[in-house]
Amino acid sequence: MLPLTGPSFLIDQSRTERNISRMLQKCEHHGVSLRPHFKTHQSLEVGRWFRNQGIDKIAVSSFSMAKFFADDGWIDITVAFPVNLLEIDLIVALSKKVRLHILADNPDTVAFITRYAELKAGVMIEIDAGYGRSGIHVSKVSVIQELARMIEQSDHLRFEGFLSHAGNTYQARNKMEVLAVHSSMLVQLNELKSRFLISYPDIILSYGDTPTASLADDFGGIDELRPGNFVFYDLMQQRIGSCSYDDISVAMACPVVGVYPDREQVAVYGGGVHFSKEFVESEGIRNYGQMVKWNGSTWGDIVANCFLSGLSQEHGIVEISDPMLLSKLKPGDLLYFLPVHSCMTAEAMRNYCTMFI
Ligand code: PLP
Repeated sequence: MLPLTGPSFLIDQSRTERNISRMLQKCEHHGVSLRPHFKTHQSLEVGRWFRNQGIDKIAVSSFSMAKFFADDGWIDITVAFPVNLLEIDLIVALSKKVRLHILADNPDTVAFITRYAELKAGVMIEIDAGYGRSGIHVSKVSVIQELARMIEQSDHLRFEGFLSHAGNTYQARNKMEVLAVHSSMLVQLNELKSRFLISYPDIILSYGDTPTASLADDFGGIDELRPGNFVFYDLMQQRIGSCSYDDISVAMACPVVGVYPDREQVAVYGGGVHFSKEFVESEGIRNYGQMVKWNGSTWGDIVANCFLSGLSQEHGIVEISDPMLLSKLKPGDLLYFLPVHSCMTAEAMRNYCTMFI
């Protein structure tokens, strides 16, 4: 590894590959295909680790991200985000290069894309089964029927099924709460799918998020899972119960830039622009990054009661409640932290330092 001089985003390759193989095995066990969401890592190298384990289809969250991965040879891509009609030229170009799957949740979008005869794509109707972000509400069966009909009438689009995301599992605080959201969504989505199977026997149900993919054991009726965050996991997932600390495969290294024994704090170079400003909270105390021990080649156990308690743009403030540890710290040392939300930290940092362990 190069000498680290500033805030640096570290990936532990073995933990990452273990997370990939575990999810793949779980999907195989349940007879569900895995279409990992690549927005978490946005890295060609990490993408190749997936490919090495046999993954050949992915989800992304924008058409430019689809192009980024298409240029690296990925040929089956779902853009799991509402179609932005202003990018129609890029969408058409992509559809000539890859097996493209896009989302629709309203007649105006479908009417617009049916006018582009060169656009050869599969269309998934996005369903809102409780999250309340994008998608047609699962109860609006006649609108969904009309959309399916419009898609099928076009000779260049294929109606491929339903896509839904249980982002509301992120409000859960334990496995039971995740499973409650999951089973409610499963019932509603399966009801919808079975109504449509009569007229459209080949449709699929694409579903997924990291908490349910990690914690649930019933995927009846689901054809495809799309978790993304599981590749790295993070503190938020650890709090929800989706992973253990040891599964978290990314960490931030931050140089100490100030030591304040009277406050039992140090300042590090590593702020909101590096970590993102997400936090986990317990008993009113916010944690923006959990300090971990460094063992010479990777990070190990968490350091109890030592965490990032505040972030400004470039500064991080670290609580160090252990006087022995505090007395040893000096400017220029590196401290290591597990991120709260790895997708956001990866997006903020862009560059990775890969550790082959
Ligand atoms: N599918 C969609 C539509 C998403 O928006 C996301 C993430 O936001 C995912 C899948 C992956 O979920 P997670 O980040 O929980 O793994």
